[in-house]
Amino acid sequence: MSYNCYNCGKTYGQDELILECSCGGYLKAPERTLRKKDIISGDPTLWRYRKALPIGENETVVSLGEGLTPLVKTNLGGLFFKADSLMPTGSFKDRGAALVINHLKKLGIKKVINDSSGNAAAAYAAYCAAAGLECHIFTPASTSAGKLVQIQMYGATITKVTGARDQVTIAAKEEAKKQEGEAMYAGHNIHPLFPEGCKTAAYEIWEQLGWEVPDNVVVPFGGGSAMLGMYKGFRELLSVGEIPRMPRIFVIQANSCNPLYSLFIGKEELAQCVPSLAEGIAIAQPIKKVEAVAAVRQTGGSVEVVSEAEIVEALGKAAKAGFYVEPTTAATIAGALRLQRTGVIDANEKTVVLLTGNGLKATDKIGQAMGFMNASQ
Ligand SMILES: [Zn+2]
Repeated sequence: MSYNCYNCGKTYGQDELILECSCGGYLKAPERTLRKKDIISGDPTLWRYRKALPIGENETVVSLGEGLTPLVKTNLGGLFFKADSLMPTGSFKDRGAALVINHLKKLGIKKVINDSSGNAAAAYAAYCAAAGLECHIFTPASTSAGKLVQIQMYGATITKVTGARDQVTIAAKEEAKKQEGEAMYAGHNIHPLFPEGCKTAAYEIWEQLGWEVPDNVVVPFGGGSAMLGMYKGFRELLSVGEIPRMPRIFVIQANSCNPLYSLFIGKEELAQCVPSLAEGIAIAQPIKKVEAVAAVRQTGGSVEVVSEAEIVEALGKAAKAGFYVEPTTAATIAGALRLQRTGVIDANEKTVVLLTGNGLKATDKIGQAMGFMNASQ
């Protein structure tokens, strides 16, 4: 398999230790296909779809049991929740991390470097631990100590970087350059295999709905891996006729950080990025935003923004329906409920909301937002 530059189309081998094209563009893995008969039904993990993943039929992988999370019909507007909040590290990022870390191990990389402070860092750290690789995470200096505990528990090294968010990325890349051959920077927002892992959520939804395509899928948007993975997964089913059409894909951002929304409505001058409760999607300059907007349009979906108040309200509504989710996921639920209220989505349609992260990861933030504890507790 090879990768192609999204910008200029140049081809690179899958085993080349490269993440960006010489033109500066990011790399994409080509579309594959998946048919019902390809699924290894005895494997209760995402590796049941290995026919559509860049891995050999009999190759062993490091697995924490990722994938095949429940799809639950809720009493919240009849929405289906895809509970990736129940993944091994508590977020959907395990899908991408499992693919990336297994690939880097195969290439002989000894140390993986990523820049993140949240769910992706925890996922990388966990899979590196299981695979016996070193993991070095670069985080913004402002990252709360509580968030770093899970990452440190998996044995990852943490370096805090002062300055803007892009300084963190630069520091991570510089560290990797110093140890070329041994260490590799494998940023989750840019590595071409990350969306390959995320696409398996689409396969699972199709399988769990009894081989049907949902009418709508609602996902949050930060760097785009959930959304572009979902899009790719359904495209791959469509291309071989396993589903008759694409679902509409709706993408939710917090209004506090809305670069995709402002691009979607053609008013990039309105883009802003100030701190949001939905910190998992507060990314000011998502590099895949042009591709994402084109994909959303192609499915007939849209990009929506929700307020901080709507996020808090949705945290409560989700919990009262039995789902304890992190604020980023609550933003997604708030968006889905709004789309129902405004009639864009009909309550009788099959609408799947991706629960990207577990509430247990953000108990301090949730407690403060709901007024159960104050900031100093
Ligand atoms: Zn290029």
